[in-house]
Amino acid sequence: MAAKAKLIKAPRGVTDILPEEIPLWRWLEEAFRQELELAGFSEIRLPIFEATELFTRSIGQETDIVSKEMYSFSDAGGRSFSLRPEGTAPLVRAFLEHGFSRRGGVCRLYYLGPMFRAERPQAGRFRQFHQLGAEVLGAASPLVDVELLALVMRVLKGRLKVEGAFLEINSLGCRICRPGFRKALQDSLASVREELCPDCQRRVEMNPLRVLDCKREGCWAVLAKAPSGEEYMCANCREHFAFVREGLEVLEVDYHLNPRLVRGLDYYTRTAFEVVCPQLGAQNAVAGGGRYDDLVELLGGPATPAFGFAVGFERLAMVVRQELAPGIRRPEVFLVLLGEAARRKGLRLLDALRQAGLGCVLDYEGRSLKKQLQRAGKSGARWALILGEDELARGEVVCKDLVSGEQQRVGLDRVVEYLCALGKTCGFA
Ligand SMILES: [Zn+2]
Ligand SMILES: [Zn+2]
Repeated sequence: MAAKAKLIKAPRGVTDILPEEIPLWRWLEEAFRQELELAGFSEIRLPIFEATELFTRSIGQETDIVSKEMYSFSDAGGRSFSLRPEGTAPLVRAFLEHGFSRRGGVCRLYYLGPMFRAERPQAGRFRQFHQLGAEVLGAASPLVDVELLALVMRVLKGRLKVEGAFLEINSLGCRICRPGFRKALQDSLASVREELCPDCQRRVEMNPLRVLDCKREGCWAVLAKAPSGEEYMCANCREHFAFVREGLEVLEVDYHLNPRLVRGLDYYTRTAFEVVCPQLGAQNAVAGGGRYDDLVELLGGPATPAFGFAVGFERLAMVVRQELAPGIRRPEVFLVLLGEAARRKGLRLLDALRQAGLGCVLDYEGRSLKKQLQRAGKSGARWALILGEDELARGEVVCKDLVSGEQQRVGLDRVVEYLCALGKTCGFA
């Protein structure tokens, strides 16, 4: 006998979402879909992989994502592609490719799907993870920032009842004022370079702003003496940020100012935010995003101000009260067919039940009545419909309530109607 073939497992950091988890996932997705569609957003479906250059140009060469976390590969023609590590750059690529920028007005789009980063897997961090993102392109008004921040919080707190979630915001300045802050920060950090962690020592040259969100305590101490972004903000950025804060206050959305919030991507300008759930520990952001007024131009398009956010579903699934999600759908009916003639006649009944909107499953193997009723019990169905030779001869079917155990003979021609009526009183259908 041949040796038993070795089982193949899913790659590390990549998980299956199992049927029993799906109602929860759909519930989370649906909460965002509904709220976004109320706010005028349409869904767009984007490809899983893109030209590597799309990410190196947008996210930034010096970010962790591009320098060490992308799954990149070459095709037979030697072109480099990458599994998407985030959704904003692909969305902007599609926005330009399909001429949304020429359609005029404001473009509101959302997307949903897996993203990929070669990070060390840990709690709440996966190599394939799922995000929903929404982007507004073509509006510079701080109203957009307020509207989307409020929307995210409304879904998380209002619809999904996430406990302890709070909003952190910061302003990263714009292309006018950020260089001044960047330089001041760089000069200040360069003088105390040896006190920084090795990653931050490297960041001082290439990307000093990223030092701000280093999680190492040694770097925190150094940063206490560093200049703050607020001092360097230009008048327009100040005004924009003041409006955002006022808007949040008008809408009674609580927030914390976090001057160290910079996000892991280079393209953010002005408002940046994260929604943090302390119960998650180190990887505690369930949502994040901000304004990216220069990205469309950076990718070859016309100057187009934009704002967006993304929500991570794996982490969200960890912080919602799972009992609030709807349960898995069970069939209403289990069809017990006994004998060849019943198996033929049963096909019609199966079809009629499903057409009437009643979920119906059956046993395929022609087992005994007892065995089939056992299966019916396990299926979670409310009723078993038993059709044997005897019932066929009388034009009837036995309808057994699997909860109460009561059973009743019902005419074959009216059993669908009978169950639909019963279903209404039981709260089905
Ligand atoms: Zn500015
Ligand atoms: Zn550091």
